[in-house]
Amino acid sequence: MNSSSFSLLFAAFLLATLAVKLWLASRHVRHVALHRDAVPAQFAHKIPLAAHQKAADYTIAKTRLKIVMLTVNAVVVLGFTLLGGLQWLSEQLVSLLDSSMTYQLALVAAVTVISGVIDLPIDYYKQFRLEEKFGFNKMTPSLFFTDLVKHSLVGAAIGLPLLWVTLALMEQAGSLWWLYAWLIWCSFQLFMLGFYQTLIAPLFNKFTPLEDDSLRARIEGLMQRVGFASKGLFVMDGSRRSAHGNAYFSGFGAAKRIVFFDTLLSRLQPNEIEAVLAHELGHFKLNHVIKRIALMFVMSLAFLALLGWLKNQIWFYQGLGVMPLMNGANDAMALILFMFALPVFTFLFSPLLSIMSRSNEFEADAFAAKHSNSQDLISALVKLYEDNASTLTPDPLHSAFYDSHPPASVRVQKLLAA
Ligand SMILES: [Zn+2]
Repeated sequence: MNSSSFSLLFAAFLLATLAVKLWLASRHVRHVALHRDAVPAQFAHKIPLAAHQKAADYTIAKTRLKIVMLTVNAVVVLGFTLLGGLQWLSEQLVSLLDSSMTYQLALVAAVTVISGVIDLPIDYYKQFRLEEKFGFNKMTPSLFFTDLVKHSLVGAAIGLPLLWVTLALMEQAGSLWWLYAWLIWCSFQLFMLGFYQTLIAPLFNKFTPLEDDSLRARIEGLMQRVGFASKGLFVMDGSRRSAHGNAYFSGFGAAKRIVFFDTLLSRLQPNEIEAVLAHELGHFKLNHVIKRIALMFVMSLAFLALLGWLKNQIWFYQGLGVMPLMNGANDAMALILFMFALPVFTFLFSPLLSIMSRSNEFEADAFAAKHSNSQDLISALVKLYEDNASTLTPDPLHSAFYDSHPPASVRVQKLLAA
């Protein structure tokens, strides 16, 4: 491979990926607009026309914003790479810091900060215009900026040491550095799975034990039926930020916690909450969680091995608009280029993950139908779709490409048949 053919290949994939994404988004907007005037027959008696139209308007507004974001993102990637942004940034930092480890850490930090600053106006607009307009925003600007500062500090406190270890391995651990980096990365992921809920999440939300005794008894009955041990049931003040509701569990082994958003508890009946939780427990009991983690580990091993090879190819740097440094402090740059290039070349495979995810959703629904009640799950789903203004009529191709969950109509059909 020479560098100019790699440049061409990269530019072609970047443009093709952007074109496919924009095409899918515009199909989605058209399809939703086309079905705005009538609630699908299946939901006609359950969801009022006004709610259906709100969901259509919300979906269209979100998708239009996504079109802007996709375009901005492609320009940013192009600006950093082929248009010379990274080369310029690297030259400035080398003249300040020489080609030291500090230079490498500063380079990654600078790219992260610049990308974050570019995204900030769009994030702000999304929260305080779009979500606000549809009644979902519960944040104040001061909470928004406090969150931003906290996220940045937590990100730096965790990310910089991890980055430092990775760069040190890349430089000193020989040709198998990627294997050691992978082991460290996997251990870190497992650590976070175990401790995120107790160490990090409380920085952003309050968690209080679930106090409703009859609901607790009901949930404990369900957990006993399916054989799920948990360290506790907690309610999270999700309503501080958003009116969207959810339930999840986190942790490992006996330290698993089940967390309900307060917004979910306030809206669903106890039998519906049980059915939603039964679905979530289904993901766990059917090993979806373990399988997802295993897949993530295998994929990251393959990608790290690929990076181990690419970082020694001069065309990889030059093809993406960067002159590698003569004395070899190029590892941070290789990491950054890899982060920009990888999604460009892998996007077209992303439907495979969506397909896997959707088949898991069907299995979890079937699990909930078996151990709880399918009618309760259906009525919970209908309420959640209505409350979250999720469209009932997504473009089929857009949905097949992106959606981690099957369309509501298909889920309900399968549950009715169960
Ligand atoms: Zn699910």
